[in-house]
Amino acid sequence: MSDTPLKKEIRRLIEVAGPMPVARYMSLCLTHSQYGYYVTRDPFGAGGDFTTAPEISQIFGELLGLWALSVWRMLGEPESIRLVEMGPGRGTMMRDALRAAKVLPKFLSAVSVHMVEVSPTLEKAQRHTLSDVELPISWHRHVLDVPEGPTILLANEYIDALPIHQVVKQADGWHERVIGLDSDGDFAMGLAADALPQFDRFLPQKIKDAPTGAIFEWRNDLHILDIGRRVVKNGAALIIDYGHTQSDVGETLQAVDRHSFADPLSSPGVIDLTAHVDFQILGQAAESLGASVQGPVTQARFLKELGLEARAEALLRKATPEQAEAITEAVERLTASGRTGMGELFKVMAICDPKLGPLPGMESE
Ligand code: SAH
Repeated sequence: MSDTPLKKEIRRLIEVAGPMPVARYMSLCLTHSQYGYYVTRDPFGAGGDFTTAPEISQIFGELLGLWALSVWRMLGEPESIRLVEMGPGRGTMMRDALRAAKVLPKFLSAVSVHMVEVSPTLEKAQRHTLSDVELPISWHRHVLDVPEGPTILLANEYIDALPIHQVVKQADGWHERVIGLDSDGDFAMGLAADALPQFDRFLPQKIKDAPTGAIFEWRNDLHILDIGRRVVKNGAALIIDYGHTQSDVGETLQAVDRHSFADPLSSPGVIDLTAHVDFQILGQAAESLGASVQGPVTQARFLKELGLEARAEALLRKATPEQAEAITEAVERLTASGRTGMGELFKVMAICDPKLGPLPGMESE
């Protein structure tokens, strides 16, 4: 297969500057300004590479709209509230959320919508999806560009698309995993020659004690700190993603091409790359800012607590037999356990102003 333009570009960068950390590779693959995966395409749906919860069922976005409405009430019904979505894909979730929120016009009249998106292609898709919405909507490249004030922030399958570093434990410490070139000029994984100084100082004991050869993946905290800062006073953020509740070793970087797994080093810019979210690390970062952290709970439990079943029944009453089958299948997929379902693999965590009590769906058992 011929090299993708991004493969040529990355090869050139490696030739000039030497092997490249996995995080830089992932970042270039997903968001390179010209050839990045998200920048050049709309990857969602049956004809694309993968399907996300809002694309599976309208109920997902609707329940999040009702969640936002309840949180606005808990915040004391501020007269202006920023409803922020990070990485909104096609804009489907926001459209469904705003439709459901029509039950409380007072809430909608307080809302300004802020879409945080790096991809001009997806921004265009979002503008199209939201073209009928009669509320102020603006687009931003970064959450820091959203004006300050009371904020409700939603992020579904956003963090998993942010770059991860991989480090490998060796006798003398943790070494960054890097991508270099083999004798044919193809990409090959390797290890940086020197251990990262003091790397394990802040790691959970379980990771420190991992055997030689173990791989640990970590993300730069900046993204979650930026989100946390926006909501620590008069706000709440809901992070929904696939991942693990406790930090752990193991490789989770995965490439997906048309609904099948692929080699992360093949076809950069053409395949999707994601990695599990480490909710323990996210929670610790948010708490370090003074924010309170609720959950994570499983997606199945969260959606059921928000009334998934009642909403599905309401839709079923009006559905044709084919629609009814699709609704039942969607609900099953959103809540099923095991590797193919999203119910247990996906977790939901809230980060919020410590003055708030338990948020909807987050009550402890
Ligand atoms: N939330 C959507 C899409 C998830 S895919 C859904 O559930 O369907 C990841 C999204 O994050 C895409 O919209 C992608 O363009 C965006 N994205 C990826 N990296 C980003 C970054 N660094 N900043 C902002 N958005 C980003």
